[in-house]
Amino acid sequence: MLYFVFTIDGDWKEYFDVKLSDHERFPKEKVLLDLIQREIDIVDKILKSRFIHFVHTLPRVRDFFLEKSFRKLWKELVKNNGDTGLHCHEDDPYKRYCYHDASMMEHTITGEAKKVQKDRAGYKVLQERVFRFLRRDG
Ligand SMILES: [Zn+2]
Repeated sequence: MLYFVFTIDGDWKEYFDVKLSDHERFPKEKVLLDLIQREIDIVDKILKSRFIHFVHTLPRVRDFFLEKSFRKLWKELVKNNGDTGLHCHEDDPYKRYCYHDASMMEHTITGEAKKVQKDRAGYKVLQERVFRFLRRDG
């Protein structure tokens, strides 16, 4: 049996554009709320909402996607059979990457996972059973 898990990586275009100023690269709440709602509506029709949206987190705007307006969307997604995961961007694209810093990654993953799980907003990706095969396969 082969299973597919459909996932959506919660990045936004400007994040990767280093030609823009820092301010221009920040996520825009209204734009992203609209895009994510459209994402949910489309996936609801096609996959009956059975997908995982990875909530983006990064040092500059750590909890931007965990504000109330976004949490409402995550709850809706979970209620409709979808789920959320955590998408850690411990980086400053093309400048600095912190993925080798296990202590920082642990701090981020542990702290953010609790926040995503709060209010039953989902989060089923980083479970022990996942880590088992990640460890086994290096
Ligand atoms: Zn990403």
